Amino acid sequence: MNTIRNAQVAIVTGASRGIGAAIARRLSTDGFAVVVNYASSSSEADALVAELNGAGGRAVAVKADVSKAAEVRRMFETAEQQLGKVDVLINNAGVIKPTPLADTSDELYDRTFDINVRGTFNTLREAAGRMNDGGRIINFSSTTVALNMPGYAIYSATKAAVETFTHVFAKELRGRNITVNAVAPGPVATALFFDGKTDEQIQHFAKMPPLERLGQPEDIASVVAFLASPAAAWVNGQVLRANGGLA
Ligand code: NAP
Repeated sequence: MNTIRNAQVAIVTGASRGIGAAIARRLSTDGFAVVVNYASSSSEADALVAELNGAGGRAVAVKADVSKAAEVRRMFETAEQQLGKVDVLINNAGVIKPTPLADTSDELYDRTFDINVRGTFNTLREAAGRMNDGGRIINFSSTTVALNMPGYAIYSATKAAVETFTHVFAKELRGRNITVNAVAPGPVATALFFDGKTDEQIQHFAKMPPLERLGQPEDIASVVAFLASPAAAWVNGQVLRANGGLA
């Protein structure tokens, strides 16, 4: 919890719905002014911003496709102009379309790497020169990296790249007192997980963790809130697999 509400600034990419929206809500409750980033879902992002501001928080919606460097630069500029210099960056935006490697089109490969890897690269590069010392960066991997499931080669490869960014960037920021960590969720009940799955497949995934349920966006938001808090000051360069014990 920040002592002065809305004094510290957090950017949450892909915050119009799903895990990102839960993170924006939680960080706002914890006292951060929040940039709710989105690529196309403007009405959802605007509704979330109205909700956060109505509850005494300070939030702005900023449209930016994270795969485009110029849009990411503008997002940081808008954050600085409207809320202040950035303290926390949550690289949550991501896409998946489970497809066997042999059936993956060039377009699907490019889109998945552009958003998941280049998008994270773009925000990290921008953050390096712009974030306040003492800040927090939290990237998004996935437990699929540990499971090596058929159909997840491209997606898991993008998240493996994000894990490598996390380990190396934590060291490259030496002297800035900025921590860089990643969260790797298991299956979480969001559109990204439900899309294209049958009820039977959903039940199968829900039974996989020993805790025998799907994760909820709030389960992941509370892990992110911990990593963004002073309590996690000594956690750096780590990947935290939040998945109910799945792997
Ligand atoms: P989601 O419900 O599909 O939400 C994705 C969010 O990302 C949306 O707000 C979307 O906004 C935004 N987004 C997509 N492309 C973007 C782009 N190019 N630039 C900016 N924003 C963009 O997904 P989720 O389940 O919450 O997933 C969040 C993160 O957790 C992802 O990195 C995902 O890989 C990871 N993860 C999820 C699960 C799971 O089971 N759900 C498991 C492991 C890891 P627009 O609609 O405006 O594009």
